[in-house]
Amino acid sequence: MAELSEYSKELSDLFTESENILLICHINPDGDAIGSQLALYHYLKAIGKKPEMLSPNNIQDFLKWMSGADLINIFIKNRKYCRELIAKSDLIVMVDFNQPERLGEARKNVLSSSARRIIIDHHLNPVPFADIVISDPSKCSTTELIYDLLVSVADKPFLTKPVAEAIYTGIITDTGNFEYGSYTGHTLNIVAELLETGIEKDKIISLIYKNFSEQRMRLMGLALNERMTILPNYNTAYIYLTKNDLNAYDHINGDTEGFVNMPLAIKGVIFSVLFVEKDKFIKISFRSKGNFPVNKFASEFFSGGGHLNASGGEYADNMENTINYFVKVLKSNFKRFNFPG
Ligand code: 5GP
Ligand code: MN
Repeated sequence: MAELSEYSKELSDLFTESENILLICHINPDGDAIGSQLALYHYLKAIGKKPEMLSPNNIQDFLKWMSGADLINIFIKNRKYCRELIAKSDLIVMVDFNQPERLGEARKNVLSSSARRIIIDHHLNPVPFADIVISDPSKCSTTELIYDLLVSVADKPFLTKPVAEAIYTGIITDTGNFEYGSYTGHTLNIVAELLETGIEKDKIISLIYKNFSEQRMRLMGLALNERMTILPNYNTAYIYLTKNDLNAYDHINGDTEGFVNMPLAIKGVIFSVLFVEKDKFIKISFRSKGNFPVNKFASEFFSGGGHLNASGGEYADNMENTINYFVKVLKSNFKRFNFPG
């Protein structure tokens, strides 16, 4: 991609000139999506703007503590107001996604809006549905990219505590609290700067990772004990959870977060999949170790995408048929996707 500094004049002019700036994250927002949105929100407020925020759907409970999260308008809860927000904006900044489908129900309004549109993202293969696409897949999180952008855009210190907290949240959630290999020395230098602002890192880690219900822990037990299948010949493990399973354990939004990573801790498993039954389809999460490209697997077979080692998709059928289809395409394509190393 172009050097970030090449965008700085254009971005800073757009931020200055625009009256109504709308920040939008992707559907089913994760910590990086909300963190990116809030980092920009707090920055723009600090330079005297009045930004608004929109999410296509609900925010998971484990992110609701974030400063400003209560100000994010939820499209599916308040469609009329959200449509008005989109219509009156003159600049729309979309963060942490690069495909228009991830706008959910807000897609039509955003795509037909006359506002200038910017994408800031770190996923591979962006679809260019914006005037400016700032895309850097080498970043571990979109908030890392936003930090680097603000370094070149801001003309005075921008790292307030709320901005730092939001950037930190994106970095720790997208790196699995520094477990995945996606972070670099540069990321850690940024984290050092973030900690200098006095953010309470232990409290943030607790709020994100040590704040689950007893029932969520027991659901994890069910998932590992009774719902996990290992396919040793394909170095693959998959877990499925039905709506009945979720209901039996008083499931709340976000409870299955992280389940898909667990089978990767098994020796020999390089590809892990989680199937979760939704109302009209099965939502699927993919994770891998090494070079197995789950983003390609997700886009080829499950209308999805994402990163090399963390992706998602969906399949419009029941659980049994979805798993049968998965096993079939896995068996016939495993060799093509598996590049040891
Ligand atoms: P998760 O498994 O945590 O829901 O998603 C992991 C990553 O996969 C996300 O950060 C996102 O990049 C990508 N992802 C998840 N679901 C979808 C989807 O339905 N479509 C696309 N294009 N990407 C997805
Ligand atoms: Mn991200």
